[in-house]
Amino acid sequence: MIGVSVLGSTGSIGVSTLDVLARHADRYRVVALTANTDVDKLFGQCLAFRPQLAAMADEDSAAQLAERLREAAPDIQVLAGVSGLEAAAAHADAAQVMAAIVGAAGLAPTLAAVRQGKRILLANKEALVVAGSLFMQAVQEHGAEVLPIDSEHNAVFQCMPANFRDGLQQVGVERILLTASGGPFRTRQLHELQAVTPEQACAHPNWDMGRKISVDSATMMNKGLEVIEARWLFDASPEQIQVVVHPQSVIHSMVEYSDGSVLAQLGNPDMRTPIAHALAWPQRHSSGVPSLDLFDIARLDFEAPDLQRFPCLRLAFEAVTAGGVAPAVLNAANEVAVEHFLAGRIAFTAIPQVIEAALATVTGGDAGSIEGLMQVDAAARDAAEQQLAKRV
Ligand code: NAD
Ligand code: MG
Repeated sequence: MIGVSVLGSTGSIGVSTLDVLARHADRYRVVALTANTDVDKLFGQCLAFRPQLAAMADEDSAAQLAERLREAAPDIQVLAGVSGLEAAAAHADAAQVMAAIVGAAGLAPTLAAVRQGKRILLANKEALVVAGSLFMQAVQEHGAEVLPIDSEHNAVFQCMPANFRDGLQQVGVERILLTASGGPFRTRQLHELQAVTPEQACAHPNWDMGRKISVDSATMMNKGLEVIEARWLFDASPEQIQVVVHPQSVIHSMVEYSDGSVLAQLGNPDMRTPIAHALAWPQRHSSGVPSLDLFDIARLDFEAPDLQRFPCLRLAFEAVTAGGVAPAVLNAANEVAVEHFLAGRIAFTAIPQVIEAALATVTGGDAGSIEGLMQVDAAARDAAEQQLAKRV
């Protein structure tokens, strides 16, 4: 039996992960589950999966969960706060850790799993955006293994040769072609974007996801974050990464080789495929995803991204090229701006403006340590909040 901890188990990726694990109950045992504040959902998951440990970031929520489990399942230990999340991540009985917390909040718990040399199933792309260099260094140092869950990166991983860590040029890889659906506003005019609502932004045409990543998909910041994620996962330069808009989301990404070959991974847009792939790798097992019907899909389209309409993608390319603290600033300011947009306090088109202002304000800091990057993250959040205060 393989022990698995699921960080962020109440979210979209967390629920899909538990769905796949339940299909292979003879093979996996759920060791720990974590959530932020959703006591009801985590309680239900605890009864269904009987982990040894349940942790909640929010202290009050953890107390409520402990109270409810006291009678229902007294054998489940309940912990609170970041140290609780880290205990779930580092649990001795977990060989694999699904990192599916959203945002920079996922960095510390994910690193706790890395430091124990575990197999990390990485959905939490923000961890790599904030601290990619240090994160990959820690993976090497502690003999951990990172398998990408983000569908594009999982696709790239599947299309890469086994020895890609020797260097992309060395193994004959020319480019990574990262596909993007273009989100719900792909065909909207620039002037129409001012008035779009959070509900419209969260109505993704192909994927059913958490609200933060859904807004990121609508601004195309999601693709920007994914460019930075690919840069670190595959040690690729920004020039080696090309974004290709592909509205059907059937090709999840591609790798182009020096002989002109382009390898692609296709599948229905359902995160259970990359999740099952990473759990079973290097073997394969079922995921619950229906077989791909190419006759039903009939055609695949491609277009170049429009950086005018999607300035977030431009900002992300600029940040990854600048390096240093810029990606951490980009991520933190984006998290703040998206939160305000979802709360109805700012317009959709204000999101890139807030991020650009934060990038212009926070230009220095220590990118060489996690503590330093956390200070940069805090400073960027302050800068974004101040920018937002000016607008109201
Ligand atoms: P979600 O909002 O549905 O779930 C987030 C999870 O994280 C929840 O369990 C929540 O309780 C927990 N959480 C939130 N804030 C927290 C905090 N401060 N401390 C501890 N836990 C906290 O998000 P999601 O869509 O499942 O996405 C999770 C991650 O996976 C994100 O980084 C996202 O970019 C990435 N991802 C998601 C998808 C997808 O299809 N949903 C695809 C690719 C990558
Ligand atoms: Mg993705």
